[in-house]
Amino acid sequence: MRLRPRSIRGRDTLVAAVLAFLVFGSIAVGIDLAVRNAVKAGHLQETQIAARRISAAVRDGTLASPIPDDTGGRIVIQVVGPGGNVLDSTPAAAGRPPMSRLWPTRDQRVRDVEECNGWGTGNECMLVEAIRVTTAPDAVVVYAGKSMPGFMTNGLLEALLAAAVLALTTLAAWVTWRVVGRTLRPVEQIRTQLAEISASDLSRRVPQPPGEDEIAQLAQTANATLDRLERAVARQRQFASDASHELRTPIAGLRANLEDAEMHPDDTDLPATITSALRDTDRLESIVTDLLLLARIGTGGTAAQETIDLAELARAEVGRRTFALKIDVELCHGAVVRGVRMQLVRLLGNLLDNAERYADSRIQVEVSAVGDQALLTVVDDGPGIPADQRERVFERFTRLDTARSRGSGGTGLGLAIAREIAQAHSGTLQIEESPQGARFALRLPLL
Ligand code: ADP
Repeated sequence: MRLRPRSIRGRDTLVAAVLAFLVFGSIAVGIDLAVRNAVKAGHLQETQIAARRISAAVRDGTLASPIPDDTGGRIVIQVVGPGGNVLDSTPAAAGRPPMSRLWPTRDQRVRDVEECNGWGTGNECMLVEAIRVTTAPDAVVVYAGKSMPGFMTNGLLEALLAAAVLALTTLAAWVTWRVVGRTLRPVEQIRTQLAEISASDLSRRVPQPPGEDEIAQLAQTANATLDRLERAVARQRQFASDASHELRTPIAGLRANLEDAEMHPDDTDLPATITSALRDTDRLESIVTDLLLLARIGTGGTAAQETIDLAELARAEVGRRTFALKIDVELCHGAVVRGVRMQLVRLLGNLLDNAERYADSRIQVEVSAVGDQALLTVVDDGPGIPADQRERVFERFTRLDTARSRGSGGTGLGLAIAREIAQAHSGTLQIEESPQGARFALRLPLL
C-alpha cells in the first residue's frame, strides 16, 4: 500500500496533521496530568485538615458523636477501631463499613490513598486520608474521604481533551491543505501551459504570478527559457533556409552547365564544362564541410583538447602559407592555452583568409599574454568593417562584400565558425577599433 501521498499538497497536509497531532496530543496529556494533580492536591488538603482535626479530638476525648459535619456530606469521616469496626462517623457514613482497608503503621501514622472500591456512590473514586490517632498498638484510625469529581473517573476529561486534539489536528490539516493548494495553484497553471506549448507554438508564455517569490521566479525563468528557445528555433529555421539557398546557387550552376552540354553536345567545350562543374562541386563541398564543422564545434567535450602555445601555432600557420602581401608577425611566448589544435588552426586560418582577401598591402599577426588571457590579433590595412556591422559579420552567411567573398571562394561561414570555436574554448572573438582596416582579437583563458 502506498502511504506517501503523490502530491506535495497531500504530503504537506499529512506532515502538518502528524505534527499537529503530536504537539496538541502532548499538550493534552500535560493538561490532563495538571488537572488531575491540581484536583488531587485540593482534595488532599481538605481531607488532611478534616482528619487531623478529628484525630486531635479523639486524642483529647472531645469528639462529639455522631461526628459533626459542616461540609454538607462532601467530606465523610469515620473513626475505625483495630478490629475494623466503625466506632463513629459523620451522618453521611452512618452504618457503612470502613471506607478503606489502609491501616497506617506506628512508624507512618499519616497515609493517603485513592480508593475506587465502590464505597462511594456510583463508580466514583475517593481520596482518603488515614491518620492513626496514636502510636499505641490498639490505636484507632480516623479516615476522611472526599469523592473525586466525576469527570476524573468516568474518562470525560480525557474524552474532551481527545476531541479537542482531533479538532485542532483536523483544523491544522485543513488550513495546510488550503494554504498549500493556494500556493501551488500557479504552479499547476504553469505546468498546464507548458504542457500545451509545443515546438510549433513557442510564442505562448506561462502565466506570470505577481511578486518576486520562488514561483514567480520559476515562471520568469520558464518564460526566459521559452524566449531563448523561440529565438533559437527561429535562428535554426533561418539558418536552414540560408544554407539551402547557398547550396542552391552552385547546384543551379551545375545543372545549367550539364543541361546545356546535354542539349548541345556538339557546341560544348567539354574541358571548360568540366572545369566549371568542378568549381561548383568544390563550392558545394566547402559549404557542406563548413556546415558540418559548425555542427560539430563544441560537441567533443574536453577529450580532444591539448596544451597549445598560441605563438607556436601562429608561427606554424603563417609559415605554412605563402602570402602575396607583406606580413608582420610579433609572437610573445607564454600564451599557452588548452584547446583543440585543429579548430584553433582553422580559426586563425579563417582570419588570415579574410585578411588576405581584404588587406591592401600588409597584415599583422600578434600573440601575447594579457592578464589571465592569451591574446591573438590579426590586423589588416583594408577597408575595415563599419562599427554597426561588427557583430553582424559573425552571423552565418553574412557577407558585406558578396562579390569579393564569393569570388574568392568564401562560404560566408568563416567568421561564424571562428567565433563558435572561440566560444567553445571559453573565449571571445571580436572586431576592435583600429586606425586602419579591420582588427580581429581572439581572447582565450590562459592555462
Ligand atoms: P566570407 O569571408 O566567406 O564571406 P566570413 O564569415 O569570413 O565569410 O566573413 C563575413 C563577411 O565579413 C565578409 O563577407 C566580409 O564582408 C566581412 N569581412 C570579414 N573579414 C573582413 C576583413 N578583414 N576586412 C573587411 N571585411 C571583412
